[in-house]
Amino acid sequence: MTSTETQPPAAAADRALILVVVDGDAAAEACREVLADRSSSTDDRARAEAVLALVDLREGRVEAAQRHLDEARRRLAPGHPFAPSRLLVDHVEAHRLRAAGDVAEAVGLLRRVHALATDRPLVDAYLTARALGIAVSLRAEDDEALELFHQALSLARRSGHLALVVNALNNLGSFLSDLHNLEDAVPMLEECLATALRLGHRRQIVFAAGNLTQCLCFMGRPAEALAVARRHLIPLITPDDPPALRRDEEIARALLDNGLVDEAAAVLGSDAVDDGLGQEQLTGRVCLLARVMLHRGQVAGALALAQNRQADLASESTPTTTAAYDQVDLHRITARAAAALGRHDVAYRELEAAWTVNEVRLGRAARSRRLNLQIVHRLREAEWERDVARRQALEDPLTGLANRRCLDEQGAELVASSLAHGRPLAAAVLDLDHFKQVNDRYGHEAGDRVLQAVSRWLRLGLRAGDLAARNGGEEFVVLLPDTRADGAAALIERVLAELRRMEHVADEERFSCTFSAGVAEIEPGDTLTRLLARADGLLYRAKRAGRNRVEASPAGPCP
Ligand code: GH3
Ligand code: MG
Ligand code: MG
Repeated sequence: MTSTETQPPAAAADRALILVVVDGDAAAEACREVLADRSSSTDDRARAEAVLALVDLREGRVEAAQRHLDEARRRLAPGHPFAPSRLLVDHVEAHRLRAAGDVAEAVGLLRRVHALATDRPLVDAYLTARALGIAVSLRAEDDEALELFHQALSLARRSGHLALVVNALNNLGSFLSDLHNLEDAVPMLEECLATALRLGHRRQIVFAAGNLTQCLCFMGRPAEALAVARRHLIPLITPDDPPALRRDEEIARALLDNGLVDEAAAVLGSDAVDDGLGQEQLTGRVCLLARVMLHRGQVAGALALAQNRQADLASESTPTTTAAYDQVDLHRITARAAAALGRHDVAYRELEAAWTVNEVRLGRAARSRRLNLQIVHRLREAEWERDVARRQALEDPLTGLANRRCLDEQGAELVASSLAHGRPLAAAVLDLDHFKQVNDRYGHEAGDRVLQAVSRWLRLGLRAGDLAARNGGEEFVVLLPDTRADGAAALIERVLAELRRMEHVADEERFSCTFSAGVAEIEPGDTLTRLLARADGLLYRAKRAGRNRVEASPAGPCP
């Protein structure tokens, strides 16, 4: 995993690609800027054309998409079969295939592109993992889809682009919700909404709030669902929004679940057949309308509506992927209406059908919970291992203090921050006295124990934000923000007093140890090296003056 981190794609072309998940018009605008910019590279131009094709495909403009796709291919330099943009163009080609109904071909191509994820910019790899996840989920291959949505989320997080994180959380959350794994879905969708609100893109907020509202309804938390809908959904939607953005079903469900039948009816309107609705939305809408009718005593009408929808679903040539929840709901509502009309045989059959679907649904939900647990555990473990490796790279193994590398990195930050804010910073350099003799007389292991004891006393004296490091051998460095030289010297004196008092034992011989230290204070225009050099000078003054003492610079003016 190197090329993706060390070779970020051209900023403008990358921005366009990120915008695809947020706002197609803005993405297209960013692409046109890349194409109009004379300094854009051929690869950037190919990227921009590919993104334009993607935007067109999302809007259903297949022919325009094809033209941009051809243009992108034409621009790709021949002889570079592994150029990142070539994989992006393949990714878009997969979208085109799917739009043309060639789903198997599209999935095959996406799989090939996804397999090369490590060679690609994170944003590209994210979009492919996501697209493949969606394609696979539509084929009800739950396990693989879950894995892919998690991968997409990791890629999004690693990319650092919050718009992608929101997008990924929304996909994963709504997929888990479709599987009725609500316990895992709700926290995902809550994080999604919170992040979307921070970013402020309307589409993303509406999708996040819509999904969370629905999920809370499914969970039997209608009051919370309605609160989310009223706060983050209803005020953002306008009557001109396309059906996919309107979230009528989610809002109506939250209202109905809170007994607000008239308000729900107003949101739904009376028209059950809306050409703009997908098959899944249509079933959901029919269920909600039937519930409204049942509330109003229009029992026969509710039964007819529900049964018509069932007949439509049964006659579909290609079975729809209607979410199992809606199927269960449809059977239950049919049963309720039938029972109210005294048609108990119909009611019984419908309830039995509801439970048949439910059995499958609950099985998928349980499986998804277990799998989700495994995936999250695996990701956490990998993260933990990365943490351990990162820590080990910065830690001295003998004493557990920061090592030299860590001192260089974090010390420079402390110095910069102190200078930037005009706040004091004290540095102490400690060196054990006659330590060679200690090793020679009592052995190296006894020497090691002394080093550990000094580290322990140092650590005990520190506040959060202080830094103690083993600078190598028997020398230590301590950096104390917001501390003047006299305060730092007092602290180091206390550590020295503890060490003096402490008896070490080796081969039944007892001995004690001391150190010498120099303490300096930051000055205007300082660097870490200069600050430590002054402390070092004072340390050698302490050595020359007989060791076992702390020499501090006089307090100067604040930096
Ligand atoms: P001075 O008071 O002038 O500092 O004398 P010194 O003997 O401490 O100084 P010198 O630099 O001559 O020797 C440092 C010794 O520290 C040499 C080495 O044996 C010991 N030392 C360095 N690193 C370690 C370590 O990791 N473990 C142990 N036990 N000893 C170490
Ligand atoms: Mg030394
Ligand atoms: Mg020494």
